[in-house]
Amino acid sequence: MKDLVLATRNKGKIEEFRRILDELAPGSIRLLGLEKFPETSDVDETGDTFEENALLKARSICAETGLPAIADDSGLCVEALYGAPGIYSARFAGTHGDDAANNAKLLQELIHVPDGKRTAYFICVTALVMPDGREVTREGRFYGSIGHEPIGKNGFGYDPLFQPDGLSISSAQMSASEKDAISHRGKSLRAIAPFVLEML
Ligand code: IMP
Repeated sequence: MKDLVLATRNKGKIEEFRRILDELAPGSIRLLGLEKFPETSDVDETGDTFEENALLKARSICAETGLPAIADDSGLCVEALYGAPGIYSARFAGTHGDDAANNAKLLQELIHVPDGKRTAYFICVTALVMPDGREVTREGRFYGSIGHEPIGKNGFGYDPLFQPDGLSISSAQMSASEKDAISHRGKSLRAIAPFVLEML
């Protein structure tokens, strides 16, 4: 089994990566979360793009552990807001990770925007960095629109406000496996997985 470090302490993300890699190559990769490397430093997401931030995280963890590393960066881009909150999605309302405040701010900013102009997409860029310096990034998108009130209890972040194209429910009403199948994160992970299998 080959070791791959996932640059996150988020258990949900580790499980999602594990499910997808196991589907493609059962039992061939041991995915290690950052809880196995408590001494690693937190990386400041100082990039201007999702890709730069994903690379910053993967490079730093690869350098600190000496192992191949994978990291992702994701967010929500709302067309009526010219792509905001974008790379600032986690701290749109000020405090990092305050989902309720972020959702309230998003609804407020879109208060005068009618249905049909509330289109948005989630985006995720996943980066793989190898100890020999090779790097690969892959992007996934999940298109939909922003509703008028939070609906549903699953997922996290902006899921209760996000209505995927072609469905009549919010992404917070989808099961984890339904969301994995069409989400930005699922798409970018499935796109990078063949490189992981080839390069490790
Ligand atoms: P990060 O990639 O962990 O930095 O996440 C950035 C932020 O984007 C999260 O805190 C959420 O606010 C938002 N976000 C990213 N992916 C999703 C998703 O699948 N559902 C809901 N919100 C998301």
